Amino acid sequence: MKADGMFVGAHDVYTNNLQFEQLTVGAIFSNMQHFKKVVKEYAIRQRFMFVRSKSTPKKYDVRCKVEGCKWRITGTNHMTCVLVKSFVPDHTCRTKLRGNDHPLVTAAWVAQTCLRLFACPDDVRTRIIREYIKMHWVQMMRRNPGSYMRVFRARDLRPRGDDRFVRLFWTFGLSIWSFHRTLRHIILVDGTHLRGKYLGILLIAIGVDGNNGLYPLAFGVVEMENEDSWRWFFMLLRQYVLTAEMNIFTICSDR
Ligand SMILES: [Zn+2]
Repeated sequence: MKADGMFVGAHDVYTNNLQFEQLTVGAIFSNMQHFKKVVKEYAIRQRFMFVRSKSTPKKYDVRCKVEGCKWRITGTNHMTCVLVKSFVPDHTCRTKLRGNDHPLVTAAWVAQTCLRLFACPDDVRTRIIREYIKMHWVQMMRRNPGSYMRVFRARDLRPRGDDRFVRLFWTFGLSIWSFHRTLRHIILVDGTHLRGKYLGILLIAIGVDGNNGLYPLAFGVVEMENEDSWRWFFMLLRQYVLTAEMNIFTICSDR
């Protein structure tokens, strides 16, 4: 990818493990407030409630609200940060909160979470879109195990400079699973122009099943359709959808 002026290329990789990797024994948080926030959001996503036990200003120790359940986590102040001293991630209880209500999802929490969407002093539209995509993609990655997404951006080297979006690639875990187990080893690829404010090109790879039905495998959004962008797309398709031993397949372009 070409770099112009103060920009250099950078890849961000997202997998469905993104959400919870922070909560492990030995994980470090900048302060107690940050640690509490991560624990709270973990409980909201996992749909359970916790209660505090033996907590002091220097120690935050919580356990699952269901009596007798083994889930618990302890973070303690360690010099200038907070360290996860112990964590039992598995619940022995069977209770999960049902419906959309969670006692921790208060009006204040929703307001604080959404504030990021609206408290953007400059260039509101692109910042809102960036935050929106980030929040929604985290959900999509969490709900589709085995999925991958890669964002290619131009990193701004100037102080306070904004990075610039260049390309996006994503594939769902189920697509990868199906391609290896049920689909024929044929891949159809094509690109089409995107309409609207930001334009660009949508690249797509499609699989074919035994009845000649089409099955989406991977998607890419790139700045333009050329040799470089197609090479980038195929490189990631090879990396995430195909496997090293899969050497016999047919690629058909433009149908
Ligand atoms: Zn529990």
